[in-house]
Amino acid sequence: MNKEEKILEFWEKEDIFHQSIKNREGAEYYSFYDGPPFATGKPHYGHILATTIKDSVLRYWTMRGYQIPRRVGWDCHGLPIENLIEKEMDIKSKKQIEELGIGKFNDACRSSVFSCVSDFQETLKRVGRWADYSEAYSTMDNNYIESVWWVLKKLWDKELIEKNYRVSPYCPRCATTISNFEVNQGYKEVKDRSIYVRFKAVDDDACFLVWTTTPWTLPGNLALAIGKDIDYCLIEREGEKLILAKSRLSIIEGEYSIISNLKGSDLIGKKYFPMFDYLQGVIIDGVSYDNAYQILSGEFVTDEDGTGIVHINPMHGEDDFQISKEHGLPFIHLVDESGSFVDAVTDFSGLFVKDADSKIISYLKEKGILYKEQLISHEYPHCWRCDSPLLYYAVDSWYVLVTKIKDSLVSNNEQINWVPGHLKYGRFGKWLEGARDWDFVRKRYWGAPIPIWECSECKKKMCIGSIAELEEKRVAGERVSDLHRPFIDDVKLICPDCGKSMSRIEGVFDCWFESGSMPYAQWHYPFENKEMVERTFPADFIAEGLDQTRGWFYTLTVLATALTTEDIGLGKDKPAFKNVITNGLVLDDKGRKLSKKLKNYPDPKDVFDKYGADSLRYFLLSSTNIGEDYRFSDDKVKEVWRNVVLAVENCFNFYETYAPKEPIAITTPPSNVLDKWILGRLEVLNERIDRFMAGYDLTKATRLIGGGQMEGGNNYNTDNNVSWDDYAVGAFIDDLSNWYIRRSRRRFQKPESQEDLEYASQTLETVLCKLTKIMAPFTPFISEGLYQKLRKDSDPISVHLCDYPSPNQSVLDRDSYDIYWSMNYIRSSINLILAERTKAGIKVRQPLASAYIPKVVDGYKLTASTYYDQLISLIKEETNIKEILIKDDIQQVSIDTELTDELREEGSLREIIRHIQQERKEKGMSPEDKISIVYNVDSGLDSLIQKYQTYLLEETLALSISSDEVNQGREIKIGTDTVIFTIKVV
Ligand SMILES: [Zn+2]
Ligand SMILES: [Zn+2]
Repeated sequence: MNKEEKILEFWEKEDIFHQSIKNREGAEYYSFYDGPPFATGKPHYGHILATTIKDSVLRYWTMRGYQIPRRVGWDCHGLPIENLIEKEMDIKSKKQIEELGIGKFNDACRSSVFSCVSDFQETLKRVGRWADYSEAYSTMDNNYIESVWWVLKKLWDKELIEKNYRVSPYCPRCATTISNFEVNQGYKEVKDRSIYVRFKAVDDDACFLVWTTTPWTLPGNLALAIGKDIDYCLIEREGEKLILAKSRLSIIEGEYSIISNLKGSDLIGKKYFPMFDYLQGVIIDGVSYDNAYQILSGEFVTDEDGTGIVHINPMHGEDDFQISKEHGLPFIHLVDESGSFVDAVTDFSGLFVKDADSKIISYLKEKGILYKEQLISHEYPHCWRCDSPLLYYAVDSWYVLVTKIKDSLVSNNEQINWVPGHLKYGRFGKWLEGARDWDFVRKRYWGAPIPIWECSECKKKMCIGSIAELEEKRVAGERVSDLHRPFIDDVKLICPDCGKSMSRIEGVFDCWFESGSMPYAQWHYPFENKEMVERTFPADFIAEGLDQTRGWFYTLTVLATALTTEDIGLGKDKPAFKNVITNGLVLDDKGRKLSKKLKNYPDPKDVFDKYGADSLRYFLLSSTNIGEDYRFSDDKVKEVWRNVVLAVENCFNFYETYAPKEPIAITTPPSNVLDKWILGRLEVLNERIDRFMAGYDLTKATRLIGGGQMEGGNNYNTDNNVSWDDYAVGAFIDDLSNWYIRRSRRRFQKPESQEDLEYASQTLETVLCKLTKIMAPFTPFISEGLYQKLRKDSDPISVHLCDYPSPNQSVLDRDSYDIYWSMNYIRSSINLILAERTKAGIKVRQPLASAYIPKVVDGYKLTASTYYDQLISLIKEETNIKEILIKDDIQQVSIDTELTDELREEGSLREIIRHIQQERKEKGMSPEDKISIVYNVDSGLDSLIQKYQTYLLEETLALSISSDEVNQGREIKIGTDTVIFTIKVV
């Protein structure tokens, strides 16, 4: 079991999660809605990303003192599950399902839901997500369904529900309409054959030239449409006369002459001969073709592509449907609900329309109707679940009249804080402005059944809003124990108007209606938990992927808006949530989608085993601006592991190794500039994280801890108003380990006084204690692990039961502000001096006499005059230069490269010491081991060693150093001289 798994076990054993909620009894409530995932297949990185965001935010606000119950939920219904089962059972059509029996089919759906849920649970737990898995809600529970009914009934009472015959996006394989926002989830680039065809005019010998990308719609043609203000012309080519838009003449190949120019309005009312006569074969009483087969004027017609003349088939296009309705054209289907031609289409009957295209084209060619053919590639909508190309299809369906409440949708959006912010008026806001009526009924099986009944006699329709109401209004029978089909299908109601029997309309809810009802249905509102739901609505926070702007975020908003047009306890004019974080996709390193086929991503389980969930979490939180797409790779997670998880662990290990086991109390504040600096840095980190978390900006908050790009000015304030806003901070962990600890190493390992050791170790302890709490929401495992080692008996037993630290304002004073800027000056100067050394080709181990630096470096100044000497010694130590001079009259850093004999000797000495230390390490000796050194040298270096013997012994923790004829050992080359030495523990 690795470290993280042990921590999971500890959390479980002590029930830390529930303690963290119980702890906050009576505190302010923070409301969170968990978007139910479709638990089909295994959870992927997208789920892990969303879950990390949710978990981090909720842990943060919990530590901040709020009470946050966390219930997960599962989306169990709808096409995703049905589709999976159809594949499993090799079912190709609805007919097969009905032959099998709806009951059996639904049973299969029901049992498959749970098989996937356990995979999800396991992965989410391993990521560290704290949630109530045992109390999960599921959309297939009767209680949940009853609340969905309640929602629909409320909308029904507000006259926001309507039955309508309209053209809808339609999946012929699933044999159901789908909503306009589902269409948006399945556009794909495809190649289709597009054709130009001739429609022969009745009055003269010209033909109207028409373009279409759906040849299969031609048999049902009933009209042509033109734009009345578009310019058209009649041309002659090889003895044939054609009419088309003037701006589209480029499609005519070869020589032609223009006979006359026409305005669109001149063409209106002109008749043409039907291309096919199949429609006439469908005998329906009272159908008249009087208004058919003529030129109509359509607002939607443009001359941007095609020929400026549009073929109209009322059954397969929204514009077509509207214009046909206006002109009283008949609505007759030549295509059945499975997308195949009916018998009346004698030449193509039984063929699936998309498959019939090529046969139709050959037929048109034979008859001389085809003018020309092209292959085009275009974006075509496909079923988001089964991948079949969608058709537009005229059919009876039920709509939520979203267009009626569009203004409220837009204004309720004003109350939402979007992360990233551009979504508010961009992708989401625009989508609301263009909102359409919502076709919410699926003619399917596995879903919450639509509670609408229709009278067989007088056609009265009734919506049922609860089980009690159902029982009251039904024809007597056994109480329904399962609200699903097929049981609900048997329930008949008594018509209140004529007393005849009413039957339920076919169909189940769009699963997005169900998930959109989640704020109410998860708690069986308003039948139970009424006070609680009303108190906690709307949610303080939700988080899901960007695609949900046209999915769950949208349906939540629509239903919340519809329910709160007046106050029924949920408030008036409310969105469903106040803050939302929207994440992008996780792609591979090259920007491709993660796919099983490409095998371009590691199994999450392997990543957990190798680098831990913390590393993955931190990568997901900080590597990419939230909302943008990720470039994922194993190496990048490894980098986080090294720079964050391992780095902070090493800081702790250093502390544990060197801190006095029995510390003595110190009473005065630290006077070492490094202590002052890191303590100030810590408070600024705390203060800024709070600020970013208040705005739900996780990217910026986490980058403060472990790195990533941060903007920040270097606007040093010289007046007394200290402004931390301008405080440009890098990664804290890097500053801690690569600056504070590195520069303080000697204070721990060879302290000048016990007191200084105390100061250093107590400073480091303060930093680590606070840092583990600061990191806890984001990297809960390592934080817990370190906390357990740092905590005192009186502290809570888990870091996640602690309060989130608040910045200690008293530390953030003028002094620490000046130190911060001065330290930046020092570190920038060091970098420049080291660069000068590199340029001159002189190693850092070779001491130099002096360096000169200007007063302003990278915009920073040294203003902390109290610490002047300490700060300057940092430069000296780090750059190995004896004297640092700040000069008024220079612009650039420069170094004195002249080497005196003394400097050379010192350089050699350092080289020898370094090799001895290296040898100690390689021999596996501990830092406390005392050693003896024997060396063999045949040059002037001997006198050097003798001269500095005491210093050498001190620096290497050696008790003796002597010369002898050793031939084997470590060899050092210094200039032209060679030293061989051996060491051993004494
Ligand atoms: Zn489908
Ligand atoms: Zn009736």
